[in-house]
Amino acid sequence: MIVANRRKPLRRCIGCGQRKEKAAMIRIVRTPEGILEVDDRGKKPGRGCYVCPDPDCLAGALSKGKLSRALRMEDPDEDTRDDLREKIDDLIDNNAGEVRR
Ligand SMILES: [Zn+2]
Repeated sequence: MIVANRRKPLRRCIGCGQRKEKAAMIRIVRTPEGILEVDDRGKKPGRGCYVCPDPDCLAGALSKGKLSRALRMEDPDEDTRDDLREKIDDLIDNNAGEVRR
């Protein structure tokens, strides 16, 4: 059994498969209504999965079968994936901006 570090919970990125600090990652959630959303605060209800704030990981996460396996659902259609990609791209840009400051 893995004992979780309470201070820095780790989550596995569905893009690269590495475990990283949950706080540094972007959460994608399937809401109870079955809608995929980017959860920028990590608090939305539903089944979630995580991806690093990295364009490569994002591309991996959106590749066929990844989200559906992580979230136990049908593969999202192209519109949904484009929407997620856009929102996560924005988050990545914002994070990069904060690091620069
Ligand atoms: Zn990753």
